[in-house]
Amino acid sequence: MGSDMKKRKILAEKTVDELRRLYPDASCSLDYDDPYFFLVRAILSAQCTDIRVNKTVEELKDIAGSAEEVLKLGEERLGEVIKPCGLYRAKAKNIIKTTSIFINEWNSKIPENIDELVSCPGIGRKIGNLLLGELYGIPALVVDTHFKRVTKRIGLTDSDDPSRVEEDVCEVTDPSVWISLGHMAVAFGRDICVARSPKCGICPLKDFCRGKES
Ligand code: SF4
Repeated sequence: MGSDMKKRKILAEKTVDELRRLYPDASCSLDYDDPYFFLVRAILSAQCTDIRVNKTVEELKDIAGSAEEVLKLGEERLGEVIKPCGLYRAKAKNIIKTTSIFINEWNSKIPENIDELVSCPGIGRKIGNLLLGELYGIPALVVDTHFKRVTKRIGLTDSDDPSRVEEDVCEVTDPSVWISLGHMAVAFGRDICVARSPKCGICPLKDFCRGKES
């Protein structure tokens, strides 16, 4: 093992330990009802708060309570319902395409492997990994904007490319922590290591974080 890898492993261990102390109960803030509507929530969550997504999906379910009914709504009507989540035209298009694949190709069961998931338009690695972790408990790392920022500042990666960040962090952490590490990093990125003016003064990671601001 190279010395850089060794250093990153130690850094990763310290990071996981501190995040566990801060967020022992970190979990996904998207509500879970059934696998299909969880997938819808995941697609809607791009650039939108989980609170708004959860509320909008409840409204959607009052109108269309199953994948078949969502498909029947069609892009335009679906777009009107999900408008509060933003980017609604693209999201409606993705949801309709994905719903059709879910029903007709996946036999109404979300696949348990990432390659099949990302072959579906509208599902990238972030959503694919979220589904694997939350639906099946399969170790998978969800790299969102908070995760990317936090891990780069700390020094676990030098990359801004989500796939590379995922690779770098997976390389130095045990698969058993991947699901919770994603949730903990998001909570930490919202509370302390915020995008602008991170709260380094009160941050428990400041003794080993390379990105701390004085
Ligand atoms: S010390 Fe600052 S930059 Fe580093 S993790 Fe903490 S808040 Fe983020």
